[in-house]
Amino acid sequence: MSHTPNRQDFDHYMAPNYAPQQVIPVRGEGSRLWDQQGREYIDFAGGIAVNSLGHCHPVLVDALKDQGEKLWHLSNVFTNEPALNLAKALVDRTFADKVFLCSSGGEANEAALKLARRWAVDNHGEHKDKIISFYQSFHGRTFFTVSVGGQPKYSQGFGPVPGGILHANYNDLESVRKLVGDDTCAIMVEPMQGEGGIVPGTQDFLQGLRDLCDEHNALLIFDEVQTGVGRSGELYAYKNYGITPDILTSAKSLGGGFPVGAMLATDAVAKSLVIGTHGSTYGGNALASAVALAAVEFIDTPEVLEGVKKRHDLFREHLETINRKYGVFKEIRGMGLLMGAQMSDAYEGRAKDILPLAIEEGLMALIAGPNVLRMAPSLVIPEADIAEGMARLERAIERLVAAT
Ligand SMILES: *Cc1c(COP(=O)(O)O)cnc(C)c1O
Repeated sequence: MSHTPNRQDFDHYMAPNYAPQQVIPVRGEGSRLWDQQGREYIDFAGGIAVNSLGHCHPVLVDALKDQGEKLWHLSNVFTNEPALNLAKALVDRTFADKVFLCSSGGEANEAALKLARRWAVDNHGEHKDKIISFYQSFHGRTFFTVSVGGQPKYSQGFGPVPGGILHANYNDLESVRKLVGDDTCAIMVEPMQGEGGIVPGTQDFLQGLRDLCDEHNALLIFDEVQTGVGRSGELYAYKNYGITPDILTSAKSLGGGFPVGAMLATDAVAKSLVIGTHGSTYGGNALASAVALAAVEFIDTPEVLEGVKKRHDLFREHLETINRKYGVFKEIRGMGLLMGAQMSDAYEGRAKDILPLAIEEGLMALIAGPNVLRMAPSLVIPEADIAEGMARLERAIERLVAAT
């Protein structure tokens, strides 16, 4: 007898660290999803900025099927063609000379932080161990990355945290100047804070960080796990600013839904990651690499990247139109197709109340903290789906306002 899984099964069988919505999607195509009852949804959530080409995009399905019939996994005792092709594609398209492949964003950041510490020990000595990062930042859920992340709720309650980590205020260079010194090993920053509320870094701030790193022989690490691979309208957001980091991390959109991550670095830095210093059983897995390569090659084209910028304008216009009617937003911001709408004072902290209403209206969206409605749709979402999704969002907001 077969059992159809239901939402109660989650509470019975899954570790209780998540609180998923009640509906269970079973099928997706492009920017639409269908649940167990056959109800249709428009997807502005994109699996939290992961489904860069929507659901089951033919280019990714073909890459998956093709590689799936050839070779899946070898371990790092051997190398494989898709991993080499992916690394070359990333090096050819960015500042980087070397790539470390892994399976998630947290793992890419863990590698970046360990590399930075090792580089400092190799080149400057043990004393150069301070890592500066920012309040409200998010860098993953490993113990090192939650500690570097600037949201104490994720790192507290697990006993002693790793040392040598300092936090400054985002977009406030003065607060960094107070902490930086010759013992600074690295500054880790998201060019635009994602989980922290969709807050773009200013040009002066990010340039100031680059200059401070150069002055103090420290490394600049850009966490582009959320902003990377076309999300910002460029392959990586650093290209929008013309500011080059020493290390960059990528995941989420990189695999278009397949778990994969990458740490990119210059030769001068990467050479500290000598044999045995770090590793990952799945890192550079052939199946993951083949899908990621297909995603990168498809996304890093003028058509797709221009399309992201065009869709950004459409999202902004729709959100402004809704806001003129209901006045629920204080500010609409973001880059490319990573957009945030901050709630106005009257609706302070109520972004999360929109999500279940939106689901009832047939729309999936996200929040970034309690006060920001976030959207991270497919980079190729059709204009008709944007219009229909916005009509559904407007109905949800109308209900929020009516119930207030
Ligand atoms: C999601 C995210 C991570 C963590 O990635 P995982 O794949 O969940 O480990 C790290 N940094 C940023 C900026 C993110 O948005």
